[in-house]
Amino acid sequence: MGIQTNKKGLLVVLSGPSGAGKGTVCSALKEEVPELVYSVSATTRPPRKGEVEGVNYFFKSKEAFQRMINQGELLEWAKYVNNYYGTPRTFVEERLAQGHDVLLEIEVQGAYQVKKVFPEGVFIFLLPPSMEELRARIQGRGTESKDTVEDRMKAAREELGHARYYDYLVVNDKVAKSCQQIHCILEAEHLRRERI
Ligand code: 5GP
Repeated sequence: MGIQTNKKGLLVVLSGPSGAGKGTVCSALKEEVPELVYSVSATTRPPRKGEVEGVNYFFKSKEAFQRMINQGELLEWAKYVNNYYGTPRTFVEERLAQGHDVLLEIEVQGAYQVKKVFPEGVFIFLLPPSMEELRARIQGRGTESKDTVEDRMKAAREELGHARYYDYLVVNDKVAKSCQQIHCILEAEHLRRERI
């Protein structure tokens, strides 16, 4: 019989400005680390083309979102640009208790709230290779109006100022490389916590 180790699920937070490529990196991570569980957030933002209820987000009215806050259903929530975003609490707590690693793809205000509840979480910040590249990616997405591009660039500059408080910084110049780096981070964090 091998040595028994106590493997607990890791709470992983991935932040980074809109356009840093979190979505693309997460899609690639699903191949690289298939056992990682993704939390689906609630938001008041309207769905973008191709987004699916319950897959990309749970799309909520302002009233329904407020009810979730009032009833303590959200682990964290934040206002980002002009919309609200939040992490449903039960799903995350249940999966962690079952020993799964759970990834939250959230912005920095939310990450600070999570850090208070889960100080042992793994906090990763994804950086764009440059501000020019970031703008090109936000514009290239083609789903944002000009105002929203500027709003998102402003939010991005503010968010980048918080990168230094994260445990790991990953520069997303190549998706495959970022993905491998995140995989390595998760493996190392598991080894660090392994107890006989
Ligand atoms: P987007 O509108 O581009 O899907 O998301 C905008 C920002 O909200 C992104 O930085 C994304 O990481 C963040 N976000 C998505 N879900 C949540 C959440 O549940 N909580 C928080 N605090 N931020 C979130």
